[in-house]
Amino acid sequence: MSTDGAAVAGDGNNARLFEQARRVIPGGVNSPVRAFRAVGGTPRFIARGDGATITDADGRRYIDYIGSWGPMILGHRHPAVQAAVHAAVDDGLSFGAPTERETLLAEAILQHVPSMEQLRFVSSGTEAAMSALRLARGATGRNVIVKFEGCYHGHADALLVKAGSGLATFGHPTSAGVPEAVVRDTLVLEYNNVAQLDEAFALHGERIACVMIEPICGNMNFVRASLPFMKRLRELTSRHGALLVFDEVMTGFRVALGGAQALYARDLPGFAPDLSVFGKVIGGGMPLAAFGGKRAVMEQLAPLGPVYQAGTLSGNPVATACGLATLQEISRPGFFEALSARTRDLASGLGEAAKGAGVAMATDSEGGMFGFFFATTLPRNYGEVMATDKDRFNRFFHAMLDRGVYLAPALYEAGFVSSAHSQADIAETVAAAAASLGGHTDR
Ligand code: PMP
Repeated sequence: MSTDGAAVAGDGNNARLFEQARRVIPGGVNSPVRAFRAVGGTPRFIARGDGATITDADGRRYIDYIGSWGPMILGHRHPAVQAAVHAAVDDGLSFGAPTERETLLAEAILQHVPSMEQLRFVSSGTEAAMSALRLARGATGRNVIVKFEGCYHGHADALLVKAGSGLATFGHPTSAGVPEAVVRDTLVLEYNNVAQLDEAFALHGERIACVMIEPICGNMNFVRASLPFMKRLRELTSRHGALLVFDEVMTGFRVALGGAQALYARDLPGFAPDLSVFGKVIGGGMPLAAFGGKRAVMEQLAPLGPVYQAGTLSGNPVATACGLATLQEISRPGFFEALSARTRDLASGLGEAAKGAGVAMATDSEGGMFGFFFATTLPRNYGEVMATDKDRFNRFFHAMLDRGVYLAPALYEAGFVSSAHSQADIAETVAAAAASLGGHTDR
């Protein structure tokens, strides 16, 4: 560990660094959930990652199930990714001019996502979702957008909206600083509710530019859009000339190589969204995201079309090198089968540990993404997620952290397994869960 003014392993460094950070950074963090506000306690300052583990400023090692909130599908410091990034750094950090790797990464992504013929790179999921929204509005000449309660699409103004008070009413800003006028055209519906979809389209169908959805929602832990719901959503959007936008920032190249849309296409022949948004895994841990769709829609973008969109660091050469090396590794035959099996082992192991302790837990997983709830059945929407046992989740989170397992610090977040997680890591995690839940057999 570095000694040049940085923390040296020992007790109290996390607390000291948090105190120091809070003086100069609001809440001590650069993204709110990192502050542990939902679960309480001191956030861990991470000094280093290695495979499936991270080590904090006190020298404590944890099995990491956050993986930078999704990107680290190969674990930390994967040798091929590290080498590609080092080589790219040696060529220069940024040029603001086209580079070959942008095209290669675009080709590598498009190859696995047949619904897209073209894409454009940006630097964050927020930017990608915001740009897709502008493109959908520009391409359709309509203003109304539909989203679902519990889905997060980054922090662009028009998407920071909570549900309106009645069925198919327009939403209210979720954040101070977002004017009512900006969200006046955003309709918020309940996830998995077909009747609400029908009513929204009956009332507003000809004004709807797009419907944006997390197909497997990782921002309310892990909730799948049901097949009947997705089928109806596709029918209604097509019939009314609205674009269906899949936000696959989390699920893209994570639940399957082709993202969640590949899974829906398997069950609903011919299924495809009109626009897709990617982030996280496609950048392998560097700031990189993308949005894409059919050529006719994408060519509405500047410099070809009237929809403006740009970025100084878009398609950054180091980020594209990182993304390319990551995609190359995860495209190897058998990669997703192995990752899925390991993730399923974790989810079922957690379920078994809970059962052994007499605690109600429902679990689910797809590819390298998983969720667990302190509830008897899997929730289907935001209201049901919020009705699960939050106090027990918070106790469990800290009990696991104390035992060296780093879970997402809020019950509405998904978990991630990487290819670096070994069977021994899973077994250690399940044993920690059994021990953590052992003291709470009140159910
Ligand atoms: N969409 C989804 C589904 C996400 O999970 C996130 C981030 N967790 C975003 C968009 C925003 O991405 P970013 O944090 O890179 O802006």
